[in-house]
Amino acid sequence: MENKKDNSNFIRDIIDSDLKANKNEGRVHTRFPPEPNGYLHIGHAKSICLNFGIAKDYRGLCNLRFDDTNPVKEDVEYVESIKDDVKWLGFDWSDRMFYSSDYFNELYDYAIELIKRGKAYVCDLTSEEIREYRGTLTQPGKNSPYRARSVEENLSLFQQLKEGKLEDGSSVLRAKIDMASSNLSMRDPALYRIRRITHHRTGDKWCIYPMYDFAHCLSDSIERITHSICTLEFVNNRPLYDWLLEQLNVHHPQQIEFARLNLSHTVLSKRKLLELVKGGYVDGWNDPRMPTISGLRRRGYTSESIRKFCERIGVAKFNSIVDAVVLENSIREILNQKSQRVMAVIRPLRVVIDNYPEDKVEKIEAINNPEDETMGTREVPFSRVLYIEKDDFMEEPPKKFFRLAPGREVRLRYAYFITCQKVVKNDKTGEIVELRCTYDPETKGGNSPDGRKVKATLHWVSALEAIKAEVRLYDHLFVKRDPTDVEEGVDYKSNLNSNSLESLNTCFIEPSIKGSKIGGRYQFERLGYFCIDSVDSSAEKLVFNRIVSLRDTWAKIDKAAKQKNQNKKKNSK
Ligand code: ATP
Ligand code: MG
Repeated sequence: MENKKDNSNFIRDIIDSDLKANKNEGRVHTRFPPEPNGYLHIGHAKSICLNFGIAKDYRGLCNLRFDDTNPVKEDVEYVESIKDDVKWLGFDWSDRMFYSSDYFNELYDYAIELIKRGKAYVCDLTSEEIREYRGTLTQPGKNSPYRARSVEENLSLFQQLKEGKLEDGSSVLRAKIDMASSNLSMRDPALYRIRRITHHRTGDKWCIYPMYDFAHCLSDSIERITHSICTLEFVNNRPLYDWLLEQLNVHHPQQIEFARLNLSHTVLSKRKLLELVKGGYVDGWNDPRMPTISGLRRRGYTSESIRKFCERIGVAKFNSIVDAVVLENSIREILNQKSQRVMAVIRPLRVVIDNYPEDKVEKIEAINNPEDETMGTREVPFSRVLYIEKDDFMEEPPKKFFRLAPGREVRLRYAYFITCQKVVKNDKTGEIVELRCTYDPETKGGNSPDGRKVKATLHWVSALEAIKAEVRLYDHLFVKRDPTDVEEGVDYKSNLNSNSLESLNTCFIEPSIKGSKIGGRYQFERLGYFCIDSVDSSAEKLVFNRIVSLRDTWAKIDKAAKQKNQNKKKNSK
């Protein structure tokens, strides 16, 4: 169990004081209520961690409730993906998975009860008229001419609505509250509308469907929820939430609003994400660039990292944009501690060590994880033909370029010092195809006995033993920090990053990764953290996704190592 003090927030403060006052007989019962009209995204993860997290810490309960009151956009595929994602995040609704549609009979009865109490009426205004009558923020609304209908007439009309005797859009059931209220949500809001649409669970049983505001508070009440946590957009709906439950005199959960998560360089709206999927801007809901839970999972994020992120960003009452770096750091920190290091070359340049024996293969010892000694070491083959990164070599190096260049000596990580003797080019294109180098056998392990210094350490793989793979590098999906911040008439999609995916088809990885499974995560030295793709990898072809790049460069590592050595020397003196 987590320490409550560490993750305290204003919602937990409310719960603490409710518990003190023995409100709800000391129960804590929350719910996560997704609408099954798309895949869950990282914003939903915040809500899931909050609701399920509170239930866990207070030994309470959290329900999973599909808010399926709008049959137009809903789909079973979405229901299944939502269940998968909540489970994957590490939460369990046990036997408490519900659907708002489970309550359609009860909701209908509650509507009749409201009519009987004179608090709801059937209104025949068209939707445009209703809008006109509603007034504006500065002007009060006007009463509908149907507002004065008798209870009997309303009961009879509502019955006809249910039986499908009226046209779609001809009438709605409205709450009778106050057309002059300063809160537009309270100006006789619609509670039921006619929709002749087949529902994914109730089929054609109903041709009227409850509105969100009506269904939501009553579903909360039926499930005996104690704290109904939602995002800030619902602040203005809270008086309606309270009004309905008061009029019906039923169990009354407390609605509490918090700021929704906005993440930089992406969009968190199912409608927009659906548009990206449908328009082919991404490769499905689980495209590794998507901010969906399934996309992040495929990219290589662990559920632990996402929970950690949600904890770190906290819960506030004002909207803001969280920088994508915060999300990236959540996985970086975990993988820095845990991941196996390997050497991989993603833009290969062939290197031949001319003075190295042709058939010889040496086993070089390499450290698996400098952050965790218990992970030990492994052996990496070294031979005459190697690959290094193309950008670790420059034929005419500028001043600050310290890596390999003609005539220059560098260290190959864990192995030897090598010196570039000759650059081999393609006759026709002039492209560099190979470097001919020599090695110094005295520098085994990457140390020179004469104290000779080199300014760079490169990673490498032995060509013969290397495993070929495809590597996919990702960048932000959008170029702009807030992609929806656009001039009038400009589409947010104009901010899509056309370079968000770079696919490298001929990469070479050291043979130690042989036999690793889908979802396996590694640090490729100097390149970042990578994960085997769960969709496109096969026995024949390995595909790696870059989860995130490395924050720390070798410069820092080397500096730290130097420092350590100096300290050692000091101590031994
Ligand atoms: P979207 O705008 O993506 O369609 P939504 O609010 O319509 O989101 P729902 O399925 O209704 O999606 O959301 C389920 C729960 O998740 C709600 O309680 C909602 O408040 C919460 N939620 C949705 N988006 C976010 C977000 N960005 N940050 C935090 N909570 C969110
Ligand atoms: Mg919603």
